[in-house]
Amino acid sequence: MKMHNARNCIVAGGAGFLGSHLCDRLLGAGHTVTALDDLSTGSEANISHLRDHDRFRFVKHDVLEPYDLEGDWLFNLACPASPPKYQADPVRTTLISVIGTLNGLRLAERRGMRFFQASTSEVYGDPEVHPQMESYVGAVNPIGPRACYDEGKRCAESLCFDFHRRHSVDIRVVRIFNTYGPRMDPEDGRVVSNFVTQALKGLPLTIYGSGQQTRSFCYVDDLVAGFMGMMEQDVDIGPVNIGNAEEFSMLELAKIVKEVIPTTSEIEFRPLPADDPKQRRPDTTRAHEAFGFCATRHVRDGIRATAEDFASRFRTTATVR
Ligand code: NAD
Ligand code: UDP
Repeated sequence: MKMHNARNCIVAGGAGFLGSHLCDRLLGAGHTVTALDDLSTGSEANISHLRDHDRFRFVKHDVLEPYDLEGDWLFNLACPASPPKYQADPVRTTLISVIGTLNGLRLAERRGMRFFQASTSEVYGDPEVHPQMESYVGAVNPIGPRACYDEGKRCAESLCFDFHRRHSVDIRVVRIFNTYGPRMDPEDGRVVSNFVTQALKGLPLTIYGSGQQTRSFCYVDDLVAGFMGMMEQDVDIGPVNIGNAEEFSMLELAKIVKEVIPTTSEIEFRPLPADDPKQRRPDTTRAHEAFGFCATRHVRDGIRATAEDFASRFRTTATVR
């Protein structure tokens, strides 16, 4: 049955970790979804359960090429997100952020669509202000190894606001803080996926640097609820921080992972990558005021759900040791 306010949605990056959860959520709310993805860091396995859904379709497409589809809402999530993945081909990463966003904005302008941009806490760089609020303009090293992603995403935000001011495109920009959960790629090199994989395989948990650096970890369901809240409201175009305001050092995170997953794994210290931000925690007041956002899932429960998902995937693939 078609809902009264059902939307026709395009999710660029729909076969990725966050994109696939967003597709689930949109379909669950009665909307129609076209997932667009080049499958570079995402996978068909993430959306295989949707293959026969009558309101879902998948189109393999690289957002560096212009595209044209009808719709009401366009979500732009297409971009590699983990540092090892986005640094593997840094020039392409910059182009995906800039040209991919430009192509999406042009489509939104042409078709009168609401445009959602998945921006990032990385726009704050290695922040001198803590916690980070949206008015903070950031401290990004423009020539470091993270710049392809950070500056790419900053330029994408600037494109969004220029299309809004000059071409009246109806934008919604969210700045996503570290998010984790089932369907992350266990090999993507991010800290939660590394620790969970390492603990399940009895390998050393790799801590980069002293482990005193902090992050705030949001469970994927909380984040996607925030995406929906942002898209459904008419008062704030953003940028709006979305994330969990609890903050942990990497040493604390490793301890929690070892408590949740019984393991023989020890801690192993590795060199700290260049420009690694020392601290990060979102101020989510604005999201709370605009659409009642509140991340509720505790990291211990979220790690458990992630570990269960990884464990079931390792049992069915050859990656398990
Ligand atoms: P992901 O790598 O799982 O998802 C990205 C998806 O985009 C993948 O399916 C990939 O195949 C697709 N993609 C990449 N380049 C493409 C291209 N040129 N054309 C079409 N598709 C392409 O990562 P994710 O964690 O799901 O991140 C999704 C979005 O959220 C990204 O834009 C990322 O920058 C942003 N974000 C994520 C986090 C996080 O903690 N997960 C934090 C901040 C921002
Ligand atoms: N990190 C770590 N061990 C790992 C992977 C990452 O200690 O195996 C650290 C990394 O140096 C950073 C933090 O964990 O300080 C978060 O890293 P991630 O790549 O998940 O996200 P980002 O740095 O983009 O916030």
